[in-house]
Amino acid sequence: MAALNRRDFLKKSLKTGTTVVGAAVLIEAASKGLNRRQPFAEAAGPEPEYEIYAAKYGGPLVRKVAIVLWNVGWDEDGPINYYVWAIKAKGGEITLVDTGPSPAQGAARKVPGFVDPIDVVARIGATADSVSKVVITHMHWDHVGNIEGYLRAFPKAKFYVQKREFDFCVKNPVCQRKPIVVIFDPTANKIVGDLERSDRLVIVDGDVNLAPGIDLLLAPGHTLGLQVVRVNTAKGPAVVGSDCAHVFRGYRENNPSVFIMDMPAWIQSFDKVKSKAAIDLIFPGHDVLMHQGYPKVAEDVTRLV
Ligand SMILES: [Zn+2]
Repeated sequence: MAALNRRDFLKKSLKTGTTVVGAAVLIEAASKGLNRRQPFAEAAGPEPEYEIYAAKYGGPLVRKVAIVLWNVGWDEDGPINYYVWAIKAKGGEITLVDTGPSPAQGAARKVPGFVDPIDVVARIGATADSVSKVVITHMHWDHVGNIEGYLRAFPKAKFYVQKREFDFCVKNPVCQRKPIVVIFDPTANKIVGDLERSDRLVIVDGDVNLAPGIDLLLAPGHTLGLQVVRVNTAKGPAVVGSDCAHVFRGYRENNPSVFIMDMPAWIQSFDKVKSKAAIDLIFPGHDVLMHQGYPKVAEDVTRLV
């Protein structure tokens, strides 16, 4: 492991022609050595610093607390919001995290206060020219449903998804079955599947370095192939955790949401994610505090760090 460097993570799959980033050894390392720092994060000199923004595209939606904190608060109501995220480099280049749902889905799913996520991230400069990477943390409808719109809006961008997530959503017919299909998106699955041999899609295999100061970390549990994004910031390492936890309390209380596909994997993923950044710099998927407790830089957009 220690001998691997950043260049080793790029290889071409001869079988499919798809660009595959990562190596089998990293999956093994991710599952066995969850608390180890990744060697690629230490290999280079000082990492560049980025800013992280939360872009709210929907909410608030009030639901039982027991949905966002597993088996806690059956009698309590609490609000959630819906977000995508943007990671901004000093030079203005933007890495987007998740696509949110399409406008049609926003209407069909009755997302309160829905705004097309493309319009929200545009308010902080995410344009066709400034976006070269889009990370898909996982393939639930509210995180990947707008992929067609994103492919059009950001024509230079490559999209990054974990192999385990891709394989389950695209190749495993169980993903089409009730009740699990309800929180996935068969249309998006098809679009992502059709990109398999395209240069727009990069299938990531385990923990990999995305750019100097940005790593993708496999953190399964919520879904089988969820990935989080570790970002170097002025305050130190931070993690865009997406739905690894729905709310900040999840990390503090070691409790996920009810939407868990693999609880043992999730417990290990929490240990891993919490070893990567201070707890107040690990950002959850749906907490209203990301909208309320941070500097507002544009309508519906806050700067988290
Ligand atoms: Zn989710």
